[in-house]
Amino acid sequence: MRLALAVLPLVACAAVQRENTAYDALASIRAADVQAHVDYLASDALEGRPADGEGALVAADYLAAHFERFGLRPLGDDGTYFRSIEEEGIAPNVVAVLPGTGPDYFLITAHYDHLPPRESGEDRIYNGADDNASGTAAVLELAEAFALLKPQPRASVVFVCFTAEEMGLRGSRHFTEHPPFPLERILGVINLDMISRGRENLIFCEDGGTADWLKSLAEGCNDAVGVEIRFDKHPEWIPASDHYPFMQAGVPTLYFGVEDHEDYHRVTDHADRILPELAKRVARLTFLITTHVVSG
Ligand SMILES: [Zn+2]
Repeated sequence: MRLALAVLPLVACAAVQRENTAYDALASIRAADVQAHVDYLASDALEGRPADGEGALVAADYLAAHFERFGLRPLGDDGTYFRSIEEEGIAPNVVAVLPGTGPDYFLITAHYDHLPPRESGEDRIYNGADDNASGTAAVLELAEAFALLKPQPRASVVFVCFTAEEMGLRGSRHFTEHPPFPLERILGVINLDMISRGRENLIFCEDGGTADWLKSLAEGCNDAVGVEIRFDKHPEWIPASDHYPFMQAGVPTLYFGVEDHEDYHRVTDHADRILPELAKRVARLTFLITTHVVSG
């Protein structure tokens, strides 16, 4: 059963009242908001958000409620933000779009599911704060920022929170096999999976050989953000998250993430251990890269 949207705690994100510039939109991506989203998504109440559990449905409602509040258009089934992956008992992908003036698309993605509780132990819940409440929180902050952006971009910006990544990339696989628009129309994809641990200002980036130009753009945009980016250090990550089905389809795709850490896939991946400032910087970098592609 779904919780009524009214009872979901909406994070009080940075309100920008006056005329919005790209700078205002960028400034709306805040570390405190990232932390607030992660605090909710990685709370024990959501039981680790396994894609076949009640917690994932509560998380999906939370994501949809924020997309709705930002004024983004639903891109799910029957006018909702929920896009079923047509597997019994598995939570849906949650998808919203900021429509552009032209026929092309740019995707910003993260998986919101994690792992089921273990049978016993004092702490049973795999909270998945870094993996991947952090990337999901960044998608929400980016959705909010793009909703503030004027003028309307040329290409549509699509925000996808994938289900069932931890069950074998099933949410992203379904999306690429049943896309809501032709894959040829996707200018690029940025996937965020684990962006808030490790060293305070260090992020890794892989493109699977699909997007030299996006990596160059990331370097150029990073002048305004100043995070340390290490490119192409972890080819073993290429098949490991939701960027992979897009890379396999030949879509220009970037993945941002941190290296595995001591709490990876452990019950101790807790919200109070994340680096919200790092997640904010990666989100801001994603905003600038995407803005470059979809404006113009
Ligand atoms: Zn992950």
